[in-house]
Amino acid sequence: MFTCADCEIIGCRKGEFEKVPANCPIKEEEVYECAREEYEKEEIKKFIDGTIQLEKEGKGRWSRVEETIQFCKMMNYKKIGVAFCLGLKKETKIFVKILRDHGFEVSSVICKNGGIDKKALSISDGEDLRGVSCNPIGQAMLLNKEETEFNITIGLCVGHDALFFKYVEAPTTVLLTKDRVLAHNPIGALNCAHSFYRRKLRNK
Ligand code: SF4
Repeated sequence: MFTCADCEIIGCRKGEFEKVPANCPIKEEEVYECAREEYEKEEIKKFIDGTIQLEKEGKGRWSRVEETIQFCKMMNYKKIGVAFCLGLKKETKIFVKILRDHGFEVSSVICKNGGIDKKALSISDGEDLRGVSCNPIGQAMLLNKEETEFNITIGLCVGHDALFFKYVEAPTTVLLTKDRVLAHNPIGALNCAHSFYRRKLRNK
């Protein structure tokens, strides 16, 4: 098992390979060989180059929104897909307008697309199963049908986002991760994990 999260050496970053822990993934030569082969592919090279340019020009200067727009420009994308949550409709409308102002063609799909009843999808039943279900597979399939070159998600629920990523074809980035309690700032719970959130996060 790999335990990079617990590693205090981080020899991979400094090139100090003789100091790495016994279970360091650096010893997984076959995996790295496969990864290197992927990086040799023309479309991946172009993609990586875009991320390098982005870091070079925007690190510490551009917000995530700006970085996303600039990355789309650097990659020369024309058609962008936006998969968003109903609860973030207002912010999505603003973002889509900004993208259009920058010259992109934007196709946006809301989480509730298809209007499917929750009861029709769930294997459990109960009083709380009311209303229309989120449809992340529909979001992915609709953006696939639109042949978007790059997608951006805004506030998809935990789990729904995973299904979206499983079914979507074009590369996708996340503009915003939903957190209904912490104003969409999930890291806040970890920042306070030693204090105010200690009890809430404990495994009971
Ligand atoms: S790759 Fe190896 S050296 Fe780097 S953080 Fe993981 S365990 Fe540590």
